Amino acid sequence: MSIKVVIDRCVSCGVCVKECPVAAIAMNEENLPEINLDKCTLCGICIDKCPTGAIVRTHQAQKAQEDYDQYRGIMVVAEREDGEIARVTYELLGKATRLSTHLKQPVTAVHLGPATDQEVRELIASGADRVIIVENEELNIPLVGVRARALHDLVVDELPEIILAGSTSQGRPLLSKLAVKFQTGLTADCTGLDVEMPDRHLLQTRPAWGGSIMATILTAHNRPQMATVRPRVMRRLKPDYNRKGEVIRIKTRPENVEDPVKFIELIKESTSKVRLDNADIIVSGGRGIKSPDNFTLIEKLANLLNGAVGSSRPPVDDGWIDHAHQVGQTGRTVAPKLYVAVGISGAIQHLVGMQSSECIVAINKDQEAPILKVADYAIIGDLFKVVPEMIKALEKRQQ
Ligand SMILES: Cc1cc2nc3c(=O)[nH]c(=O)nc-3n(C[C@H](O)[C@H](O)[C@H](O)COP(=O)(O)OP(=O)(O)OC[C@H]3O[C@@H](n4cnc5c(N)ncnc54)[C@H](O)[C@@H]3O)c2cc1C
Ligand code: SF4
Ligand code: SF4
Repeated sequence: MSIKVVIDRCVSCGVCVKECPVAAIAMNEENLPEINLDKCTLCGICIDKCPTGAIVRTHQAQKAQEDYDQYRGIMVVAEREDGEIARVTYELLGKATRLSTHLKQPVTAVHLGPATDQEVRELIASGADRVIIVENEELNIPLVGVRARALHDLVVDELPEIILAGSTSQGRPLLSKLAVKFQTGLTADCTGLDVEMPDRHLLQTRPAWGGSIMATILTAHNRPQMATVRPRVMRRLKPDYNRKGEVIRIKTRPENVEDPVKFIELIKESTSKVRLDNADIIVSGGRGIKSPDNFTLIEKLANLLNGAVGSSRPPVDDGWIDHAHQVGQTGRTVAPKLYVAVGISGAIQHLVGMQSSECIVAINKDQEAPILKVADYAIIGDLFKVVPEMIKALEKRQQ
């Protein structure tokens, strides 16, 4: 540990000079305090007494700098849903693979609990260079304490530079516990991830201040760097079954799987009738629809395309449609094959919920609407003319 003066904060009051019990601080010719580190006993008195917080401890920054080079590789924490590896795991592997091309480091998928050979093959095909399976049966049970201890031991052994997990009921508490143990930063709910070279910082982008800005956060002085990402925000890579990877099967220490919390039963939230999450096609209506009755147009188009009905937030706020249909930051995150945005301007809070869709079609009368920046196809025109024409054409095709 060391201490230093942050010159920008110093007001040259001289308090630290007077308070230092070993006369380790003196004002220089520019009337700024200088600390003689040979004399300083690191008692911390000047830190407490400085009225502007201009004297700080620097051990974390120094330590991190020294440790940086030990941390290598990207670790993706796999999770399971309904008895199989969850889709978010493959999406994270896709992102990790893209990041690894800059970092030139391997991507390791960690599966806490037994996994089949077929599942391991799928992880490798989706981007994992290495798969570590921690085979203790107890890890199948979603007890966060047990899983966090097993993962902690693995991270100590592996020292990954970056750890990614789903922003889910499994991933969020797991990485929170780990971040506290490692005294490092964690950004939840990222919508974008990138790396800054040559510093190897993970740039973690997410909505902030109630969604009014997009903040890019980095963990400059600590490792590992950790982030969680909501399902369907990142794109899964097309599986490549010719990829080869290293498979490591281990067991965690028996004391790690002992826990004062006992698992009794998993009760799943009753699923909504609206299956936006798994729909291949979604037709969403926004404020441009103008009235609840006009949602029948959206429903008709969605039915003809065999898709689901989505919505931006204003129709939900106005009670035109149930919240279960809302797409966006405070609604669902979706990534269908086709997303048709009808009368939706494309505010950032809406875009974060649908921008990973494979094909986006925007129907809007305003050719400056932000939705057009993410749209693959745009139909500029009055939706009350365009949508009925589409319905007519689709009905004709079905006859
Ligand atoms: C904390 C927070 C969270 C939020 N969460 C969400 C969220 O989860 N999801 C969400 O969607 N929003 C969310 N919002 C709201 C968001 O900021 C926008 O206000 C909202 O997305 C705008 O909805 P809209 O595009 O339907 O309406 P508007 O922005 O009013 O856009 C209407 C569009 O319809 C077009 N239009 C009008 N008439 C016609 C016509 N006849 N033919 C063709 N086009 C027409 C207009 O050109 C315009 O582009 C959130 C906001 C905050 C602050
Ligand atoms: S930490 Fe203590 S010894 Fe060191 S400069 Fe500050 S007051 Fe003086
Ligand atoms: S006490 Fe703080 S503000 Fe005052 S001279 Fe020392 S470092 Fe500067």
